[in-house]
Amino acid sequence: MKTIGLIGGMSWESSAEYYRILNEMVRERLGGHHSAKIVLHSFDFAELERYQHEGNWEDAGRILVETAGRLEQGGAEIILICANTMHKLYGEVQEAVRVPVLHIVDAVAEAIKDRELSTVGLLGTRFTMEDEFYRKRLRDIHGIETIVPDQEDRERVHRIIYDELCHGVIKEGSKQEYLRIIQNIGGRGGEGVILGCTEIPLLVKQDDSSMPLFDTTMIHAQAALELALQD
Ligand code: GLU
Repeated sequence: MKTIGLIGGMSWESSAEYYRILNEMVRERLGGHHSAKIVLHSFDFAELERYQHEGNWEDAGRILVETAGRLEQGGAEIILICANTMHKLYGEVQEAVRVPVLHIVDAVAEAIKDRELSTVGLLGTRFTMEDEFYRKRLRDIHGIETIVPDQEDRERVHRIIYDELCHGVIKEGSKQEYLRIIQNIGGRGGEGVILGCTEIPLLVKQDDSSMPLFDTTMIHAQAALELALQD
């Protein structure tokens, strides 16, 4: 089994999920006392969150690249950036290390194609929904079109992520807002919805919606584990 390096703390609420999911999947697959081989680096999210909102992607990239190098030195053979948003800096991170950095968009795209869907909604931070890096990769490499909420709802989705989910706060009212927004996307031709922020699955689960929901935390972790268990 290969060692998985996690760039986490973005926020730790979702890094804990990666850690749990990977270990549970290894137990299920290998049984006995097996557990996942993991090296974790967890940021102080305050620093990164500040860089994000100041638009200082250069410093954010610098610390991400440094961290990826440290994980590689620490024995990581596969690296995961445990957030959708920070895939904005994927190119720099992958360039800085020799081991594969598994792109969250590629993992979720495979899951969407397995369901034979081609147009899906995308919920995530403002950066993920509005900047090119996420939707363009889905379209150009995977042929998947995305629908995002209108401006007001994008703000709402973004605010709930930073003000609530990254603090471990789960509110019924926010869940209902997300479900309304998911429903709207269905009305606009979305065949499913990407939960494109690694904290959203803490709020909304597949059982809450009749539309297929793509849990990026679970899908990313699953893809990494497949790779880790290959000879
Ligand atoms: N975990 C988040 C994501 O998947 C949001 C927090 C962040 O901006 O890093 O995008």
